[in-house]
Amino acid sequence: MSQQTKFLLEESQMPKFWYNLQADLPKPLPVVLHPGTMQPVGPADLAPLFPMELILQEVSTEREIEIPEPVREVYQLWRPAPLYRAHRLEKALGTPAKIYYKYEGVSPAGSHKPNTAVPQAFFNKQAGTKRLVTETGAGQWGTSLSFAGSLYDMQVEVFQVRVSYDQKPYRRAVMETYGARCVASPSNETVYGRSVLAKNPDHPGSLGIAISEAVELAVQRDDTKYALGSVLNHVLMHQTIIGLEAMKQMEMANTWPDVVVGCTGGGSNFAGIAFPFIGHGLRGGAKPRMVAVEPAACPSLTRGKYAYDFGDTGHMTPLTKMHTLGSQFTPPGFHAGGLRYHGMAPMVSHCKELGLIEAVAYNQVECFEAGVLFARCEGIVPAPEANHAVKGAIVEAMRCKAEGKAETILFNLCGHGHFDMVAYQKYFAGELTDEKYAESELAMALAGLPSVPEPL
Ligand SMILES: *Cc1c(COP(=O)(O)O)cnc(C)c1O
Repeated sequence: MSQQTKFLLEESQMPKFWYNLQADLPKPLPVVLHPGTMQPVGPADLAPLFPMELILQEVSTEREIEIPEPVREVYQLWRPAPLYRAHRLEKALGTPAKIYYKYEGVSPAGSHKPNTAVPQAFFNKQAGTKRLVTETGAGQWGTSLSFAGSLYDMQVEVFQVRVSYDQKPYRRAVMETYGARCVASPSNETVYGRSVLAKNPDHPGSLGIAISEAVELAVQRDDTKYALGSVLNHVLMHQTIIGLEAMKQMEMANTWPDVVVGCTGGGSNFAGIAFPFIGHGLRGGAKPRMVAVEPAACPSLTRGKYAYDFGDTGHMTPLTKMHTLGSQFTPPGFHAGGLRYHGMAPMVSHCKELGLIEAVAYNQVECFEAGVLFARCEGIVPAPEANHAVKGAIVEAMRCKAEGKAETILFNLCGHGHFDMVAYQKYFAGELTDEKYAESELAMALAGLPSVPEPL
């Protein structure tokens, strides 16, 4: 008798509300500080950047926030997303563990990012925004926002980190297909970009620099707003549709996870799968272990400091308390571009401080090894970022094997790797190396943290 592999929900079973973990946190999030005054920011301070509806979501402590009907209609292009049981991977590992994965690569952009790009564009459209500006590293977020902008007839401008702009021309072509304009960052289009180029005309760029450029443009015009693909509370909340669907699918499979695994760059896909389970646990339900997997070359959660820091290199964004490697940190050029951010979502950092989640770091070569094994067993080629989650799940499955435990493991396969085959080629050619960065470099980046009077 064959075992069930695929767990699908009807369209009518798609969640109608996002879940807001702020409602169930045992301790509220630390306040956000203004970059100029270092005083707590209010909603009005954020108004030049975001439409009010998103600002209200950012600070909301309501448990459930309704997904507007028009957003649900767009979600239905690819949602509910499938949940799979990885029978062949289990067999290859010889583990008694049951491995399930939620697959977010079925979206138009090939990752989880449209889950937030669509509502962000929708709420901006409602507020009268004409133009959205953003940054992108590997290109996943830029692609997702370009797609969302095209749905609502909004102009989208994307500052793409110079190295990936040069290395990933196909990503740019996809953004342009959706009608967006893509500029290599640092660029000549902003004061900040010009200042970086003046010092180094060949600067490879970084997410922190691209964010500064996008923010600079957004605050100049009333009809222009900024959109961020991760880190912020409202972004993480939009992603909870992943975990909410997965909960229903785990029930269909007649099981519940003992361990939930996700990779963390800014923290949004991990939060998406983990937060609904964490909330369920905080309200008296089962408490699975929550494992965040990050790259050893950009280890904010495992080696960063929990401190107030800027979200960008040019120090234009508000300060949040988070695990950070320092806003001047430029991570080595490893291939999971989406995981190259110096900070971590304040909500994910807060959960780490409260002991609600665990964090581990793996090197890129062992993650590619895991991703290739996964592809050969399950057929899907994971995004390099997602390889970290695959690695994390395999480590848990092997622990189960060693301990003789038949635990249930759930992980988030946050995207496919079809635009990242150059990285796979390099892996097969033996050209990928593990670049850890030295303790001295870490200390230097952390020495530059802003000094902030600890708010009461
Ligand atoms: C952007 C991206 C990430 C990293 O961002 P998070 O906010 O940590 O989810 C991970 N995986 C994929 C496929 C991405 O596109």
